[in-house]
Amino acid sequence: MSLDLAPLVPPLDMPDADQVLTDADRIAASDLVPLVRAIDADGLYPEAVMRSFGTAGAYQRHLPAPGGVLDLETTITAMARAGRECLSTAFCMWCQSALGWYIFNSDNTALQASLGADVATGKVLGGTGLSNPMKTLFGIEQMKLKATPVEGGYTLRGTLPWVSNISEDAWFAVISEIPEGPRAGERIMMVLHGRGDGVKLVSNDHFVALEGTRTYGVQCRDAFVPDAQIIADPINAYVPKIRAGFILLQSGMAFGMIEGCIALMEQVRGQLGHVNQHLPDQPEDFREKLEGLKAEVFELCKTPYDTSDAYFIRVIKARLAAGDLSVAAAHNAMLHQGARGYVTHGAAQRRLRESYFVAIVTPATKQLRKMLADMGASA
Ligand SMILES: Cc1cc2nc3c(=O)[nH]c(=O)nc-3n(C[C@H](O)[C@H](O)[C@H](O)COP(=O)(O)OP(=O)(O)OC[C@H]3O[C@@H](n4cnc5c(N)ncnc54)[C@H](O)[C@@H]3O)c2cc1C
Repeated sequence: MSLDLAPLVPPLDMPDADQVLTDADRIAASDLVPLVRAIDADGLYPEAVMRSFGTAGAYQRHLPAPGGVLDLETTITAMARAGRECLSTAFCMWCQSALGWYIFNSDNTALQASLGADVATGKVLGGTGLSNPMKTLFGIEQMKLKATPVEGGYTLRGTLPWVSNISEDAWFAVISEIPEGPRAGERIMMVLHGRGDGVKLVSNDHFVALEGTRTYGVQCRDAFVPDAQIIADPINAYVPKIRAGFILLQSGMAFGMIEGCIALMEQVRGQLGHVNQHLPDQPEDFREKLEGLKAEVFELCKTPYDTSDAYFIRVIKARLAAGDLSVAAAHNAMLHQGARGYVTHGAAQRRLRESYFVAIVTPATKQLRKMLADMGASA
């Protein structure tokens, strides 16, 4: 697989924010809702829905592209519209949006003009294998992909256990490390193709939720990566640029999850309110906390390139709160719904299983707490 090289980046045709959200609502209601059970129970990947969200501009407004507006709020809100119904889909939307975020923050303008433009519109679907690097950068794991410099690029060896929203037709971003030689320890970020030379996708695990995310293990056996596919080399100055956006964009999953759970609590108020009122946590409590969290996240979204510790600590705290509130909201959706949420086709039990993903996907709750501790900040 090779990329067409184009030196100039044509401006993206940026969709209007209100229109993006109107269309996202329509697609969620008409196309996504009917698939939600099959996504959960059968691992169906909602490809047509993902492409429709792309056509609607759901993966675009956050991009620092020519013609772009760096509007993370709309991308997050569109993701939440899907997340109200299905966390699998919201997560796939994050994968897609994160890939675009990486490419358009790169200095590789040829990559932006070719792959970037297609990722922005959902014409090409793709993902991000940055969990292991993000854990490595914060002292939790060792880099799993090793890079050897060769003529015209690098070869990669190693395996990533899980990369979502990919297929043999997809592109995805990874980071690898040079293990030895004069450049030992240097790290490089690049995109790989699902059918790339030396790249193999393997199905390994089944999950309790998020099965419809096309999640594969990625094996690299001397996979050749040409210079045209490099996002950042080395990554040192690049990672601080993308890290806040990477984390903030995940808020869309949490906001959608919490909104969906509030709706489940309210749905049974007429019938069960006389007893549910004795539960300590009510939908109004979650709505108030959600509004506070949204205000903080959308404020942080205005300056995603702020590299100060004070700013990053706020980003980490907001992400931690998003995971905690997602799990709490899903727990309460189950308590409020009672038996109707506990049957196999009940939404509450699905939301409960899904919600833990917000707390374990990188950066997981435990990583966020470690990051705060390392920075001398309280959780
Ligand atoms: C449904 C799903 C989709 C995901 N999609 C992506 C993605 O698109 N991109 C991405 O980079 N990451 C992805 N991940 C990984 C995710 O971001 C987290 O890294 C993962 O959930 C574990 O994070 P943790 O910090 O809790 O680490 P821990 O669970 O504490 O430790 C993780 C490490 O333990 C080892 N490990 C534990 N259990 C297993 C197992 N069953 N099989 C193999 N190794 C194991 C591995 O070395 C792994 O790196 C996905 C995970 C899941 C469950």
